[in-house]
Amino acid sequence: MDAPRRPHHAPLVQFAVEDDCLLIGGIPLPRLAQRVGQTPFYVYSRAAMTARVAELRAALPAEVHLHYAMKANPMPAVVQHMATLVDGLDVASGGELRVALDTVMDPALISFAGPGKGEAELSCAIAAGIVLNLESEGEMERAAVLGQRLGIVPKVNVRVNPDFELKSSGMKMGGGPKQFGVDAEKVPAMLARIGQLGLDFHGFHIFSGSQNLKVAALQEAHEKTFALALRLAEAAPRAPRILNIGGGFGIPYFPGEERLDLAAVGANLARILDEVRPRLQGAQVVIELGRYLVGEAGAYVCRVVDRKESRGQVFLVTDGGLHHHLSASGNFGQVIRKNYPVVIGTKVAGGPRELASVVGPLCTPLDLLADQMELGQAQAGDLVVVLQSGAYGATASPAAFLSHPAALEVFV
Ligand SMILES: *Cc1c(COP(=O)(O)O)cnc(C)c1O
Repeated sequence: MDAPRRPHHAPLVQFAVEDDCLLIGGIPLPRLAQRVGQTPFYVYSRAAMTARVAELRAALPAEVHLHYAMKANPMPAVVQHMATLVDGLDVASGGELRVALDTVMDPALISFAGPGKGEAELSCAIAAGIVLNLESEGEMERAAVLGQRLGIVPKVNVRVNPDFELKSSGMKMGGGPKQFGVDAEKVPAMLARIGQLGLDFHGFHIFSGSQNLKVAALQEAHEKTFALALRLAEAAPRAPRILNIGGGFGIPYFPGEERLDLAAVGANLARILDEVRPRLQGAQVVIELGRYLVGEAGAYVCRVVDRKESRGQVFLVTDGGLHHHLSASGNFGQVIRKNYPVVIGTKVAGGPRELASVVGPLCTPLDLLADQMELGQAQAGDLVVVLQSGAYGATASPAAFLSHPAALEVFV
């Protein structure tokens, strides 16, 4: 009898492989490393992002607007590219707002979410004419005062903390007590106050969770989100023009995970829209996605510095690690550490294989990029590639920890 098979990572489809060598943006990896001039680096593929947006456009109902949540990858060149592909940008800080305002995107199609927006951030947002996703009653009052001072009427959505959560999500961001948004039951009173304050009410932002690979869970969240928004709309000072139903589409990171069935998500959404459309009164439905747009389009590349064996296990010591890629090390929100898809750049699938652990140069056992993974046999000088790294990589990692140089980022 065969030994039980270990679950595999989802197949690599976003990058080509030629002669067992990974190509990113059509460039063989060693050549790309020469061009970048150093390891470690992040590389993001323009073509992969363009293809992903096209897949979404094909699967989702045509009337649904697609926004890019830029905290997933705020590299200015990436945001500029996304701005030419999507229908809006969602920012989560004043710094992200500045990058978004440098793109071709119409400011009216930029929205700003996130608790604790400061006065300078609010003033800049109001003056820029973007839409504020209000996270609290206090923020509503502050925005009104600043709008008066600037002589500009702030555009606002109300971010609702829903009375449900997105099931099977990597990260729950709605339901129960939360720092995000205003509890659904308090929203009617807030809407009345928005009318009194004369704020320019645009609509609702209802984001219930992240990193979801389950069609049924997304469908249920979409149904509940529309029901909630339609209920709340009855208390609004005017009919909502925007209904941002969140996103949460996940990508496969770990063994056993499969790519989201996008066609099924789109078909469900089309069915729900057919039901609710008459009651939406023309509100623009928006889906906001971060990792789904850029996560699979990026890779983190580092180089083997040393190969050693310890009590029967192989360790590939690289010049990269958790200081550049916290999430691949398992320390960015994972409960149980699992391996990201990792390959040796010039030995992707063929040649002699071995179990090896990929570690970094930091003096902590947490600095682990792959734990006892089957890889092509590698030596010092070989390139190690962590796939699925286009989102929550460089900017979500503690780059200063241990004072190693930062990773470069390139967009090809
Ligand atoms: C982080 C965030 C997103 C993006 O989440 P992904 O999992 O990257 O798609 C979208 N909307 C809001 C409000 C967020 O905070």
